[in-house]
Formats: sequence, C-alpha cells, structure tokens
Amino acid sequence: MTRPHRAIPVCLACRQTPEHDGLCPSTDAEATYYLQHPLPGGHRDWTPAGIRYTGTPARRHAVRALMATTVWARMYDTPELPMSPGLLTKHILAEFGSTSRRTARIGYTTDFLTTLDCSCDPWRCIHDHDNPTGDPAPDWLTGPGIDPDLLVTVTLVAVEIRWAEMWQTYWFADTGGAVNLAIDSIPETSPPGISVACHRRWCDVCPGDTKPGPRDTARKPCPCSCHSGTRS
Ligand SMILES: [Zn+2]
Ligand SMILES: [Zn+2]
Ligand SMILES: [Zn+2]
Ligand SMILES: [Zn+2]
Repeated sequence: MTRPHRAIPVCLACRQTPEHDGLCPSTDAEATYYLQHPLPGGHRDWTPAGIRYTGTPARRHAVRALMATTVWARMYDTPELPMSPGLLTKHILAEFGSTSRRTARIGYTTDFLTTLDCSCDPWRCIHDHDNPTGDPAPDWLTGPGIDPDLLVTVTLVAVEIRWAEMWQTYWFADTGGAVNLAIDSIPETSPPGISVACHRRWCDVCPGDTKPGPRDTARKPCPCSCHSGTRS
C-alpha cells in the first residue's frame, strides 16, 4: 500500500516528504539534537528522543514555559523532593552512573503542560503544524477534532551536571518513564584550585580552603571570588 505523497506530512526536522533528507537526525541513531537554540552563554540541544513533546514551535513554547516553573534543590546532603519527581530523579541518576557524582542541582516543575499523545509519526506530527509563532500555546482542550482521551499531562525534572569546564542541564519529561527533551550546555571554567563546593556554586558551604595535595604543607585558600567579597 502506497499513500499518495502529498498525504505524508513534511518532517518537522528536515522538512522533507515522503522520505527524509540524507542528513535528517530522524535517520541517525547517534544524533544528539534535531534543533539547537542559543541560550545566554551557551546553547540548548532539542533531542530527537523528545520530538513528540517539542517538535513544533508551539510545543517548544509550552515546554519553555514549563521549564520556567522549575524549583531547584542542591545535590548537597540529601535534598528533599516530592515523591514523584524524587523517584524519577533517582532513576535518572542511576542511569547517569558515575556522572551522577557531578550533579550540582536537581529540579522539578511545579506546573504541568497538557499535550497530545497522538498516533502520528512524531517526526511528522500534523498537530499544531500551522502555528507559525508558537505563541499562544495551542489550546488542546478545545481544539476541533481532538480526542480528549489522547490528552496527557507532562511534568519535567532536570539534572544539572557540573563538568570541569561546562554546565549541562538535562531536561526530562515525566511520562511514566523519563524522556530526555533537551540538554543545555553553558561553558564556564573555574579558577584552578577551586573547591568542589565553589565549583558547583555552593559557595556558602565552601570551607574557604581546599585539601592539601601530597607535597603541600598547608591547606590552600580557595580562589573563588566569593571569599574576597567581590564576586566577579
Ligand atoms: Zn526528516
Ligand atoms: Zn500528531
Ligand atoms: Zn565560592
Ligand atoms: Zn570556595
């Protein structure tokens, strides 16, 4: 059975139909993003895994609005999270393996968005295609022809990882499992010799100096600007 070409919607990433462009991330299992957007000091990768939730301007608008409701907790001592995001975060950190030791903060959204669990190929979803600006977010509940049984609510959890020279925030939709929607990357290098606490911006728990190395005779002062009272 061959459907007429015009009946196959264009791909949300490569805009092609009926096939995908040779470089389309939908055909590349290794692709880490289908779209990149600038952020202050860095950028956001919208991941192929999340295209069902982020594949149109309207959907990304709704996800960004949801991200803005995130409550953050430092990964210091044992942060208290409400039950549902707490369990999902635990699951995600287990998947992160040793990288989870670099977690600076975890977050969860205090609001949710309503979206459509439609039967479209997520790369070719036809819903809210025509919204050119992404604003306002589509009103799924009153949209014509929308089956209310297909509406799902989604909350987000976030994990912020502090690498040696970069911050990365991993955003996940809580859909029963965790679906990675976006990864934010913001390069930032700390002064050499900084304490782990200050490197993660937990300045109030830095003792002000760091453990001496094997040949040091005294603890070295932490070079973070927070200790001189003049934050740079
Ligand atoms: Zn494509
Ligand atoms: Zn759809
Ligand atoms: Zn500091
Ligand atoms: Zn410090």
